[in-house]
Amino acid sequence: MNTPNISQQMQFDGRALIDGHRREAQGGATFSCISPIDGRVLTEVARCQLADIDAAVASGRAAFEDKRWSGLAPAARKRVMIKFADQLLAHADELAMMETLDMGKPIKYSRAVDVNSAANCIRWYGEAVDKIYDEIAPTASTALALITREPMGVVGVIVPWNYPMIMAAWKIAPALAAGNSVVLKPSEKSPLTALRLAELALEAGIPPGVFNVVPGYGPEAGSPLALHMDVDCIGFTGSTRVGKQIHVMAGQSNLKRAWTELGGKSPNIVFADCPDLDKAVEAAVGSIFFNQGESCNAPSRLFVEASIQEQFLERAVALAPQYLPANPLDPATIMGAIVDKTQMDTVLRYVESGKTEGASLLYGGEQALTQTGGCYVQPTIFAGVQPQMKICCEEIFGPVLSVMSFTDAAEVVRQANASVYGLQAAVWTRDINKAHGIARALRAGTVHVNSYDEDDITVPFGGFKQSGVGRDKSLHAFDKYTETKTTWIRIDSPV
Ligand code: NAD
Repeated sequence: MNTPNISQQMQFDGRALIDGHRREAQGGATFSCISPIDGRVLTEVARCQLADIDAAVASGRAAFEDKRWSGLAPAARKRVMIKFADQLLAHADELAMMETLDMGKPIKYSRAVDVNSAANCIRWYGEAVDKIYDEIAPTASTALALITREPMGVVGVIVPWNYPMIMAAWKIAPALAAGNSVVLKPSEKSPLTALRLAELALEAGIPPGVFNVVPGYGPEAGSPLALHMDVDCIGFTGSTRVGKQIHVMAGQSNLKRAWTELGGKSPNIVFADCPDLDKAVEAAVGSIFFNQGESCNAPSRLFVEASIQEQFLERAVALAPQYLPANPLDPATIMGAIVDKTQMDTVLRYVESGKTEGASLLYGGEQALTQTGGCYVQPTIFAGVQPQMKICCEEIFGPVLSVMSFTDAAEVVRQANASVYGLQAAVWTRDINKAHGIARALRAGTVHVNSYDEDDITVPFGGFKQSGVGRDKSLHAFDKYTETKTTWIRIDSPV
Protein backbone atom coordinates (compact mmCIF):
# COMPACT_ATOMS: atom_id res chain seq x y z
CA MET A 1 0.00 0.00 0.00
CA ASN A 2 1.43 3.39 -0.95
CA THR A 3 0.14 5.24 2.06
CA PRO A 4 1.27 8.81 1.23
CA ASN A 5 -0.45 8.67 -2.20
CA ILE A 6 -3.67 7.21 -0.83
CA SER A 7 -3.70 9.86 1.86
CA GLN A 8 -3.66 12.63 -0.77
CA GLN A 9 -6.63 11.12 -2.59
CA MET A 10 -8.91 10.53 0.40
CA GLN A 11 -12.18 12.46 0.57
CA PHE A 12 -13.72 13.39 3.91
CA ASP A 13 -17.28 14.25 4.86
CA GLY A 14 -17.25 16.61 7.83
CA ARG A 15 -21.02 17.00 8.15
CA ALA A 16 -22.78 15.99 11.37
CA LEU A 17 -24.83 12.80 11.45
CA ILE A 18 -28.23 13.36 13.02
CA ASP A 19 -31.31 11.15 12.77
CA GLY A 20 -29.62 8.93 10.21
CA HIS A 21 -28.65 11.76 7.84
CA ARG A 22 -25.55 13.78 7.12
CA ARG A 23 -26.27 17.45 7.88
CA GLU A 24 -24.54 20.80 7.85
CA ALA A 25 -24.68 22.66 11.17
CA GLN A 26 -27.96 24.60 11.31
CA GLY A 27 -26.11 27.90 11.52
CA GLY A 28 -23.99 26.87 8.52
CA ALA A 29 -20.74 27.35 10.46
CA THR A 30 -17.73 25.09 9.91
CA PHE A 31 -14.21 24.72 11.25
CA SER A 32 -11.10 23.47 9.45
CA CYS A 33 -9.82 20.01 10.20
CA ILE A 34 -6.04 20.32 9.94
CA SER A 35 -3.61 17.42 9.75
CA PRO A 36 -0.72 17.73 12.22
CA ILE A 37 1.39 15.66 9.81
CA ASP A 38 1.98 18.55 7.43
CA GLY A 39 -0.48 21.30 8.34
CA ARG A 40 -2.80 20.71 5.38
CA VAL A 41 -6.56 21.24 5.68
CA LEU A 42 -8.26 17.86 5.32
CA THR A 43 -11.81 19.18 5.17
CA GLU A 44 -14.27 21.63 6.69
CA VAL A 45 -16.31 20.17 9.55
CA ALA A 46 -19.80 21.13 10.75
CA ARG A 47 -19.46 23.43 13.76
CA CYS A 48 -22.47 22.22 15.75
CA GLN A 49 -24.08 24.44 18.34
CA LEU A 50 -27.14 24.46 20.58
CA ALA A 51 -29.73 23.98 17.80
CA ASP A 52 -27.84 20.98 16.43
CA ILE A 53 -27.47 19.44 19.88
CA ASP A 54 -31.21 19.93 20.44
CA ALA A 55 -31.95 18.18 17.14
CA ALA A 56 -29.62 15.27 17.92
CA VAL A 57 -31.03 14.81 21.43
CA ALA A 58 -34.62 14.99 20.11
CA SER A 59 -33.79 12.36 17.52
CA GLY A 60 -32.20 10.12 20.17
CA ARG A 61 -35.20 10.61 22.44
CA ALA A 62 -37.72 9.76 19.72
CA ALA A 63 -35.78 6.60 18.88
CA PHE A 64 -35.65 5.61 22.54
CA GLU A 65 -39.37 6.21 23.11
CA ASP A 66 -40.60 4.30 20.05
CA LYS A 67 -38.36 1.39 21.07
CA ARG A 68 -36.85 0.84 17.60
CA TRP A 69 -33.62 -0.12 19.41
CA SER A 70 -34.30 -0.01 23.16
CA GLY A 71 -37.21 -2.42 22.69
CA LEU A 72 -35.24 -5.09 20.83
CA ALA A 73 -34.35 -8.30 22.61
CA PRO A 74 -30.72 -8.25 23.81
CA ALA A 75 -29.92 -11.05 21.37
CA ALA A 76 -31.19 -8.90 18.49
CA ARG A 77 -29.06 -5.94 19.57
CA LYS A 78 -26.13 -8.32 19.91
CA ARG A 79 -26.41 -9.37 16.27
CA VAL A 80 -26.35 -5.77 15.06
CA MET A 81 -23.45 -4.80 17.34
CA ILE A 82 -21.41 -7.68 15.94
CA LYS A 83 -22.17 -6.51 12.39
CA PHE A 84 -21.11 -3.02 13.46
CA ALA A 85 -17.77 -4.41 14.72
CA ASP A 86 -17.36 -6.32 11.45
CA GLN A 87 -17.96 -3.09 9.53
CA LEU A 88 -15.04 -1.46 11.33
CA LEU A 89 -12.76 -4.33 10.34
CA ALA A 90 -14.04 -4.28 6.76
CA HIS A 91 -13.07 -0.58 6.60
CA ALA A 92 -9.94 -0.91 8.71
CA ASP A 93 -7.50 0.63 6.22
CA GLU A 94 -9.72 3.62 5.60
CA LEU A 95 -10.38 4.23 9.31
CA ALA A 96 -6.71 3.85 10.20
CA MET A 97 -5.67 6.33 7.51
CA MET A 98 -8.31 8.81 8.65
CA GLU A 99 -7.17 8.55 12.28
CA THR A 100 -3.53 9.03 11.36
CA LEU A 101 -4.17 12.01 9.08
CA ASP A 102 -6.49 13.61 11.62
CA MET A 103 -4.43 13.29 14.81
CA GLY A 104 -0.92 12.32 13.72
CA LYS A 105 -0.39 8.88 15.26
CA PRO A 106 1.66 6.33 13.28
CA ILE A 107 -0.35 4.35 10.73
CA LYS A 108 1.24 1.20 12.14
CA TYR A 109 -0.66 1.71 15.39
CA SER A 110 -3.89 3.20 13.97
CA ARG A 111 -4.26 0.02 11.97
CA ALA A 112 -2.97 -2.58 14.48
CA VAL A 113 -4.19 -0.99 17.70
CA ASP A 114 -6.90 1.63 17.27
CA VAL A 115 -9.18 0.02 14.68
CA ASN A 116 -8.83 -3.49 16.11
CA SER A 117 -9.32 -2.38 19.68
CA ALA A 118 -12.43 -0.30 18.85
CA ALA A 119 -13.92 -3.20 16.86
CA ASN A 120 -13.13 -5.65 19.64
CA CYS A 121 -14.80 -3.38 22.19
CA ILE A 122 -18.00 -3.07 20.12
CA ARG A 123 -18.09 -6.83 19.54
CA TRP A 124 -17.40 -7.62 23.22
CA TYR A 125 -20.30 -5.50 24.55
CA GLY A 126 -22.56 -6.91 21.84
CA GLU A 127 -21.59 -10.43 22.85
CA ALA A 128 -22.02 -9.65 26.54
CA VAL A 129 -25.45 -8.10 26.52
CA ASP A 130 -27.48 -11.29 26.14
CA LYS A 131 -25.51 -13.08 28.84
CA ILE A 132 -26.26 -10.80 31.76
CA TYR A 133 -29.04 -11.91 34.07
CA ASP A 134 -31.12 -9.76 36.39
CA GLU A 135 -31.63 -10.61 40.07
CA ILE A 136 -34.28 -11.69 42.55
CA ALA A 137 -33.71 -10.49 46.11
CA PRO A 138 -33.73 -12.94 49.05
CA THR A 139 -36.86 -11.46 50.63
CA ALA A 140 -39.53 -13.09 52.82
CA SER A 141 -41.92 -15.45 50.97
CA THR A 142 -44.73 -12.87 51.13
CA ALA A 143 -43.19 -10.92 48.28
CA LEU A 144 -41.02 -11.18 45.24
CA ALA A 145 -38.51 -8.39 44.60
CA LEU A 146 -37.11 -8.23 41.07
CA ILE A 147 -33.96 -6.19 40.54
CA THR A 148 -33.69 -5.33 36.88
CA ARG A 149 -31.51 -3.12 34.74
CA GLU A 150 -33.01 -0.70 32.25
CA PRO A 151 -31.35 1.52 29.66
CA MET A 152 -31.23 5.15 30.79
CA GLY A 153 -32.49 6.87 27.66
CA VAL A 154 -30.31 9.39 25.85
CA VAL A 155 -26.60 9.17 26.67
CA GLY A 156 -24.32 12.08 25.77
CA VAL A 157 -20.71 11.13 25.07
CA ILE A 158 -17.82 13.61 24.91
CA VAL A 159 -14.36 12.33 24.04
CA PRO A 160 -10.80 13.61 23.56
CA TRP A 161 -8.45 13.37 20.58
CA ASN A 162 -5.71 10.99 21.70
CA TYR A 163 -7.45 7.71 20.80
CA PRO A 164 -10.55 9.07 19.04
CA MET A 165 -12.04 5.73 17.96
CA ILE A 166 -11.12 3.77 21.07
CA MET A 167 -12.34 6.41 23.52
CA ALA A 168 -15.62 6.63 21.63
CA ALA A 169 -15.98 2.83 21.50
CA TRP A 170 -15.40 2.44 25.25
CA LYS A 171 -18.56 4.51 25.82
CA ILE A 172 -20.84 4.02 22.84
CA ALA A 173 -20.45 0.21 22.88
CA PRO A 174 -21.84 -0.46 26.38
CA ALA A 175 -24.35 2.40 26.05
CA LEU A 176 -25.75 1.13 22.73
CA ALA A 177 -25.62 -2.56 23.70
CA ALA A 178 -27.68 -1.72 26.81
CA GLY A 179 -30.38 -0.15 24.59
CA ASN A 180 -29.71 3.57 24.95
CA SER A 181 -29.62 6.22 22.25
CA VAL A 182 -26.30 8.08 21.97
CA VAL A 183 -25.25 11.60 21.00
CA LEU A 184 -21.46 11.66 20.54
CA LYS A 185 -19.39 14.82 20.46
CA PRO A 186 -15.87 14.04 19.25
CA SER A 187 -12.96 16.37 19.91
CA GLU A 188 -12.72 19.30 17.53
CA LYS A 189 -9.10 18.17 16.98
CA SER A 190 -10.06 14.71 15.66
CA PRO A 191 -13.68 14.55 14.48
CA LEU A 192 -13.42 12.40 11.34
CA THR A 193 -13.49 8.76 12.49
CA ALA A 194 -16.44 9.34 14.86
CA LEU A 195 -18.54 10.53 11.91
CA ARG A 196 -17.52 7.53 9.86
CA LEU A 197 -18.29 5.16 12.78
CA ALA A 198 -21.86 6.46 12.89
CA GLU A 199 -22.24 5.78 9.15
CA LEU A 200 -20.93 2.25 9.59
CA ALA A 201 -23.34 1.73 12.51
CA LEU A 202 -26.25 2.69 10.25
CA GLU A 203 -25.03 0.30 7.55
CA ALA A 204 -24.81 -2.45 10.18
CA GLY A 205 -28.46 -1.92 11.11
CA ILE A 206 -28.41 0.41 14.11
CA PRO A 207 -31.61 2.36 13.37
CA PRO A 208 -31.52 6.06 12.43
CA GLY A 209 -31.63 8.36 15.45
CA VAL A 210 -30.02 5.87 17.81
CA PHE A 211 -26.42 6.99 17.24
CA ASN A 212 -25.89 10.67 16.39
CA VAL A 213 -22.57 12.52 16.03
CA VAL A 214 -22.27 16.28 16.53
CA PRO A 215 -18.77 17.66 15.91
CA GLY A 216 -17.88 21.04 17.34
CA TYR A 217 -16.04 22.96 20.02
CA GLY A 218 -16.34 22.14 23.72
CA PRO A 219 -18.14 25.26 24.93
CA GLU A 220 -20.42 25.40 21.84
CA ALA A 221 -21.35 21.73 21.38
CA GLY A 222 -20.10 19.91 24.51
CA SER A 223 -21.62 22.25 27.10
CA PRO A 224 -25.14 22.23 25.58
CA LEU A 225 -24.98 18.42 25.67
CA ALA A 226 -23.81 18.34 29.30
CA LEU A 227 -26.43 20.94 30.27
CA HIS A 228 -29.28 19.39 28.27
CA MET A 229 -32.44 18.69 30.27
CA ASP A 230 -33.33 15.70 28.10
CA VAL A 231 -29.96 13.92 28.30
CA ASP A 232 -30.03 11.26 31.01
CA CYS A 233 -26.35 10.51 31.33
CA ILE A 234 -23.06 11.96 30.17
CA GLY A 235 -19.96 9.85 29.59
CA PHE A 236 -16.92 12.12 29.41
CA THR A 237 -13.24 11.48 28.77
CA GLY A 238 -10.86 14.41 28.80
CA SER A 239 -8.96 16.74 31.09
CA THR A 240 -9.60 17.04 34.81
CA ARG A 241 -10.28 20.76 34.31
CA VAL A 242 -13.20 20.14 31.93
CA GLY A 243 -14.28 16.99 33.81
CA LYS A 244 -14.97 19.10 36.89
CA GLN A 245 -17.15 21.41 34.76
CA ILE A 246 -19.07 18.38 33.47
CA HIS A 247 -20.07 17.44 37.03
CA VAL A 248 -21.12 21.06 37.69
CA MET A 249 -23.19 21.13 34.48
CA ALA A 250 -24.87 17.85 35.42
CA GLY A 251 -25.80 19.38 38.78
CA GLN A 252 -26.92 22.67 37.25
CA SER A 253 -29.30 20.92 34.86
CA ASN A 254 -31.20 17.68 35.48
CA LEU A 255 -28.70 15.83 37.69
CA LYS A 256 -27.90 13.56 34.78
CA ARG A 257 -25.53 10.75 35.67
CA ALA A 258 -22.01 12.02 34.98
CA TRP A 259 -19.06 9.68 34.49
CA THR A 260 -15.61 11.14 33.92
CA GLU A 261 -12.34 9.53 32.81
CA LEU A 262 -9.72 12.23 33.36
CA GLY A 263 -6.02 13.01 33.49
CA GLY A 264 -3.06 11.18 34.97
CA LYS A 265 0.54 11.54 36.08
CA SER A 266 1.27 7.90 36.66
CA PRO A 267 4.23 6.74 38.77
CA ASN A 268 6.47 3.87 37.68
CA ILE A 269 8.68 2.56 40.51
CA VAL A 270 11.72 0.43 39.69
CA PHE A 271 13.57 -1.30 42.52
CA ALA A 272 17.15 -2.54 42.20
CA ASP A 273 15.84 -6.12 42.53
CA CYS A 274 13.59 -5.82 39.47
CA PRO A 275 13.59 -9.17 37.65
CA ASP A 276 14.73 -7.86 34.27
CA LEU A 277 16.32 -4.43 34.01
CA ASP A 278 16.24 -4.32 30.19
CA LYS A 279 12.53 -5.09 30.19
CA ALA A 280 11.92 -2.38 32.81
CA VAL A 281 13.85 0.17 30.73
CA GLU A 282 12.03 -0.78 27.53
CA ALA A 283 8.64 -0.53 29.26
CA ALA A 284 9.48 2.79 30.92
CA VAL A 285 10.62 4.36 27.67
CA GLY A 286 8.19 2.62 25.32
CA SER A 287 5.12 3.46 27.41
CA ILE A 288 5.86 7.17 27.82
CA PHE A 289 6.69 7.62 24.13
CA PHE A 290 3.84 5.46 22.76
CA ASN A 291 1.22 7.63 21.03
CA GLN A 292 3.66 10.59 21.26
CA GLY A 293 3.14 10.58 25.05
CA GLU A 294 -0.50 11.51 24.50
CA SER A 295 -1.87 8.75 26.74
CA CYS A 296 -3.75 9.42 29.96
CA ASN A 297 -2.07 6.42 31.61
CA ALA A 298 1.47 7.14 30.37
CA PRO A 299 4.04 6.48 33.15
CA SER A 300 5.34 10.03 33.13
CA ARG A 301 6.93 9.94 36.61
CA LEU A 302 9.72 7.36 36.82
CA PHE A 303 11.23 6.54 40.24
CA VAL A 304 14.44 4.49 40.02
CA GLU A 305 16.26 3.10 43.07
CA ALA A 306 19.46 5.11 43.47
CA SER A 307 21.81 2.12 43.26
CA ILE A 308 20.73 1.30 39.67
CA GLN A 309 19.92 4.80 38.48
CA GLU A 310 23.07 5.32 36.45
CA GLN A 311 22.84 2.11 34.44
CA PHE A 312 19.06 2.52 34.04
CA LEU A 313 19.41 6.02 32.59
CA GLU A 314 22.28 5.00 30.34
CA ARG A 315 20.08 2.31 28.78
CA ALA A 316 17.03 4.60 28.59
CA VAL A 317 18.97 7.31 26.77
CA ALA A 318 20.39 4.70 24.40
CA LEU A 319 16.84 3.62 23.47
CA ALA A 320 15.43 7.12 23.02
CA PRO A 321 16.67 7.74 19.43
CA GLN A 322 14.46 4.89 18.22
CA TYR A 323 11.55 7.15 19.10
CA LEU A 324 12.61 10.20 17.12
CA PRO A 325 9.50 11.25 15.21
CA ALA A 326 9.11 10.39 11.53
CA ASN A 327 6.41 10.46 8.87
CA PRO A 328 3.30 8.88 10.50
CA LEU A 329 2.24 7.48 7.11
CA ASP A 330 5.39 5.37 6.86
CA PRO A 331 4.49 1.90 8.19
CA ALA A 332 7.86 1.69 9.99
CA THR A 333 7.29 4.84 12.07
CA ILE A 334 6.68 4.40 15.82
CA MET A 335 6.51 8.08 16.90
CA GLY A 336 4.29 10.43 14.93
CA ALA A 337 3.03 14.01 15.18
CA ILE A 338 1.62 15.85 18.19
CA VAL A 339 -2.09 16.51 17.61
CA ASP A 340 -1.79 20.26 16.86
CA LYS A 341 0.34 23.34 17.29
CA THR A 342 -1.36 24.33 20.55
CA GLN A 343 -0.52 20.99 22.15
CA MET A 344 3.01 21.02 20.71
CA ASP A 345 3.61 24.49 22.17
CA THR A 346 2.28 23.30 25.55
CA VAL A 347 4.73 20.37 25.53
CA LEU A 348 7.64 22.64 24.57
CA ARG A 349 6.69 25.09 27.34
CA TYR A 350 6.88 22.25 29.87
CA VAL A 351 10.31 21.31 28.52
CA GLU A 352 11.45 24.91 29.03
CA SER A 353 10.05 24.91 32.57
CA GLY A 354 11.97 21.71 33.33
CA LYS A 355 15.19 23.34 32.20
CA THR A 356 14.47 26.58 34.09
CA GLU A 357 13.56 24.77 37.29
CA GLY A 358 16.87 22.91 37.24
CA ALA A 359 16.14 19.38 35.99
CA SER A 360 18.87 17.77 33.83
CA LEU A 361 17.85 17.31 30.21
CA LEU A 362 19.38 13.97 29.20
CA TYR A 363 17.80 13.64 25.77
CA GLY A 364 15.60 15.52 23.27
CA GLY A 365 13.63 18.59 24.24
CA GLU A 366 13.38 20.15 20.78
CA GLN A 367 10.76 20.54 18.12
CA ALA A 368 11.50 18.20 15.18
CA LEU A 369 10.81 17.89 11.44
CA THR A 370 10.00 21.60 11.20
CA GLN A 371 10.42 21.50 7.39
CA THR A 372 7.24 19.34 7.11
CA GLY A 373 4.91 22.08 8.38
CA GLY A 374 3.69 19.52 10.94
CA CYS A 375 3.90 19.30 14.73
CA TYR A 376 6.68 17.06 16.04
CA VAL A 377 8.61 16.91 19.32
CA GLN A 378 11.67 14.81 20.14
CA PRO A 379 11.38 12.12 22.82
CA THR A 380 12.57 13.86 25.96
CA ILE A 381 14.13 12.57 29.19
CA PHE A 382 14.76 14.68 32.29
CA ALA A 383 16.66 13.37 35.33
CA GLY A 384 17.15 15.01 38.73
CA VAL A 385 13.49 16.01 38.83
CA GLN A 386 12.23 17.40 42.14
CA PRO A 387 8.69 16.92 43.52
CA GLN A 388 7.74 20.61 43.29
CA MET A 389 8.75 21.01 39.63
CA LYS A 390 5.94 21.47 37.11
CA ILE A 391 7.20 18.54 35.04
CA CYS A 392 6.69 16.35 38.10
CA CYS A 393 3.29 17.68 39.20
CA GLU A 394 1.38 18.52 36.02
CA GLU A 395 0.13 16.34 33.19
CA ILE A 396 2.14 17.26 30.08
CA PHE A 397 0.46 14.91 27.61
CA GLY A 398 3.54 14.70 25.44
CA PRO A 399 6.72 12.60 25.08
CA VAL A 400 8.42 13.82 28.25
CA LEU A 401 9.77 11.47 30.94
CA SER A 402 10.57 12.89 34.40
CA VAL A 403 13.01 10.71 36.35
CA MET A 404 13.63 10.78 40.10
CA SER A 405 15.72 8.49 42.30
CA PHE A 406 14.88 7.00 45.71
CA THR A 407 16.45 4.97 48.48
CA ASP A 408 13.50 4.15 50.75
CA ALA A 409 10.36 2.14 49.87
CA ALA A 410 7.97 4.01 52.19
CA GLU A 411 9.23 7.36 50.95
CA VAL A 412 8.83 6.44 47.27
CA VAL A 413 5.25 5.30 47.86
CA ARG A 414 4.54 8.60 49.61
CA GLN A 415 5.96 10.52 46.65
CA ALA A 416 4.15 8.33 44.10
CA ASN A 417 0.86 9.04 45.86
CA ALA A 418 1.60 12.77 46.19
CA SER A 419 -0.42 13.66 43.11
CA VAL A 420 -3.94 14.88 42.49
CA TYR A 421 -4.21 12.02 39.99
CA GLY A 422 -4.55 8.28 40.57
CA LEU A 423 -5.02 6.62 37.21
CA GLN A 424 -2.30 3.97 36.97
CA ALA A 425 0.99 2.96 38.61
CA ALA A 426 3.65 0.28 38.35
CA VAL A 427 6.18 -1.40 40.61
CA TRP A 428 9.12 -3.54 39.48
CA THR A 429 10.63 -5.97 42.00
CA ARG A 430 11.26 -9.71 42.30
CA ASP A 431 10.21 -9.61 46.00
CA ILE A 432 6.59 -10.81 46.14
CA ASN A 433 5.95 -9.24 49.55
CA LYS A 434 7.20 -5.87 48.40
CA ALA A 435 5.18 -6.16 45.17
CA HIS A 436 1.91 -6.90 46.97
CA GLY A 437 2.52 -4.38 49.75
CA ILE A 438 3.32 -1.54 47.38
CA ALA A 439 0.52 -2.44 44.96
CA ARG A 440 -1.91 -2.11 47.87
CA ALA A 441 -0.43 1.16 49.07
CA LEU A 442 -0.53 2.86 45.66
CA ARG A 443 -3.64 5.01 45.19
CA ALA A 444 -4.44 4.19 41.56
CA GLY A 445 -7.20 2.52 39.55
CA THR A 446 -4.71 0.07 38.01
CA VAL A 447 -1.36 -1.12 39.35
CA HIS A 448 1.05 -3.14 37.19
CA VAL A 449 3.66 -5.43 38.70
CA ASN A 450 6.75 -6.06 36.56
CA SER A 451 5.04 -4.70 33.46
CA TYR A 452 3.38 -1.56 32.18
CA ASP A 453 0.34 -1.16 30.01
CA GLU A 454 -1.11 -4.64 30.24
CA ASP A 455 -4.53 -4.14 28.75
CA ASP A 456 -7.72 -6.06 28.04
CA ILE A 457 -11.36 -5.22 27.44
CA THR A 458 -12.26 -7.57 30.33
CA VAL A 459 -10.79 -5.30 33.04
CA PRO A 460 -12.06 -1.95 34.29
CA PHE A 461 -10.18 1.22 33.36
CA GLY A 462 -10.44 4.41 35.40
CA GLY A 463 -8.93 6.36 38.23
CA PHE A 464 -8.83 7.23 41.88
CA LYS A 465 -8.87 10.86 43.05
CA GLN A 466 -9.01 13.52 40.31
CA SER A 467 -8.47 10.95 37.56
CA GLY A 468 -12.22 10.61 37.40
CA VAL A 469 -15.44 8.97 38.48
CA GLY A 470 -16.54 5.56 37.21
CA ARG A 471 -14.89 2.88 35.10
CA ASP A 472 -14.78 2.20 31.35
CA LYS A 473 -14.40 -1.32 29.91
CA SER A 474 -15.40 -4.68 31.41
CA LEU A 475 -18.93 -5.56 32.58
CA HIS A 476 -18.63 -2.72 35.13
CA ALA A 477 -19.22 -0.21 32.31
CA PHE A 478 -22.83 -1.39 32.01
CA ASP A 479 -23.42 0.10 35.49
CA LYS A 480 -22.86 3.54 34.01
CA TYR A 481 -25.44 3.27 31.26
CA THR A 482 -28.26 1.41 33.02
CA GLU A 483 -30.63 2.28 35.87
CA THR A 484 -31.38 -0.31 38.53
CA LYS A 485 -35.08 -0.88 39.18
CA THR A 486 -36.72 -2.82 42.01
CA THR A 487 -40.17 -4.26 41.35
CA TRP A 488 -42.05 -5.60 44.40
CA ILE A 489 -44.66 -8.24 43.73
CA ARG A 490 -46.90 -8.96 46.71
CA ILE A 491 -47.71 -12.63 47.34
CA ASP A 492 -50.73 -12.45 49.65
CA SER A 493 -51.31 -16.08 50.32
CA PRO A 494 -48.11 -18.05 50.23
CA VAL A 495 -48.86 -21.73 50.02
P1 NAD B 1 -10.28 18.33 27.01
O1 NAD B 1 -10.83 18.21 28.38
O2 NAD B 1 -9.73 19.63 26.59
O3 NAD B 1 -11.40 17.96 25.93
C1 NAD B 1 -12.08 16.74 25.98
C2 NAD B 1 -13.42 16.90 25.28
O4 NAD B 1 -14.20 17.83 26.04
C3 NAD B 1 -13.34 17.46 23.86
O5 NAD B 1 -14.30 16.85 23.06
C4 NAD B 1 -13.66 18.93 24.08
O6 NAD B 1 -14.22 19.55 22.93
C5 NAD B 1 -14.69 18.84 25.18
N1 NAD B 1 -14.84 20.08 25.96
C6 NAD B 1 -13.92 21.05 26.16
N2 NAD B 1 -14.46 22.04 26.89
C7 NAD B 1 -15.74 21.69 27.16
C8 NAD B 1 -16.81 22.29 27.87
N3 NAD B 1 -16.67 23.49 28.45
N4 NAD B 1 -17.99 21.63 27.96
C9 NAD B 1 -18.13 20.41 27.39
N5 NAD B 1 -17.17 19.80 26.68
C10 NAD B 1 -15.98 20.42 26.58
O7 NAD B 1 -9.20 17.16 26.87
P2 NAD B 1 -8.32 16.81 25.60
O8 NAD B 1 -7.21 17.80 25.50
O9 NAD B 1 -9.19 16.57 24.43
O10 NAD B 1 -7.74 15.37 26.04
C11 NAD B 1 -6.64 15.22 26.87
C12 NAD B 1 -7.08 14.85 28.27
O11 NAD B 1 -7.88 13.65 28.24
C13 NAD B 1 -5.90 14.51 29.13
O12 NAD B 1 -6.05 15.13 30.39
C14 NAD B 1 -5.97 13.00 29.28
O13 NAD B 1 -5.36 12.48 30.43
C15 NAD B 1 -7.44 12.77 29.26
N6 NAD B 1 -7.74 11.37 28.93
C16 NAD B 1 -8.18 10.54 29.92
C17 NAD B 1 -8.45 9.19 29.65
C18 NAD B 1 -8.94 8.25 30.72
O14 NAD B 1 -9.45 7.19 30.38
N7 NAD B 1 -8.80 8.58 31.99
C19 NAD B 1 -8.28 8.72 28.35
C20 NAD B 1 -7.83 9.59 27.37
C21 NAD B 1 -7.57 10.93 27.66
